[in-house]
Amino acid sequence: MSAHFSSRPFKCAECSQGFATLTKQRKHEKEKHKGIAYKKWRRCDFCEFEGDTRVVQRHVISKHADMMIHCMLCKHKTMLRISMQRHMVKAHNRTDIIIP
Ligand SMILES: [Zn+2]
Ligand SMILES: [Zn+2]
Ligand SMILES: [Zn+2]
Repeated sequence: MSAHFSSRPFKCAECSQGFATLTKQRKHEKEKHKGIAYKKWRRCDFCEFEGDTRVVQRHVISKHADMMIHCMLCKHKTMLRISMQRHMVKAHNRTDIIIP
């Protein structure tokens, strides 16, 4: 039943068991899988969202796509202004471009 299914939206990355809350899911992953998934844990730079690195990456792309900083010289994009500034220097040898 989909109604029951959606009441446990937080899935364990290792065994795909569902949990009602993120806290329970994290607790389970730490206890049952000795923190395998926990090691890759990170937090979204823009909101409270937390998850596996890949999950957060996907989350940022879908939720904060407009907040991504796009390079004006190539297709590179990043979440952080500091890394775009670094990209400008490394990839394009430009120190004159100020990232707004
Ligand atoms: Zn599990
Ligand atoms: Zn977010
Ligand atoms: Zn670039």
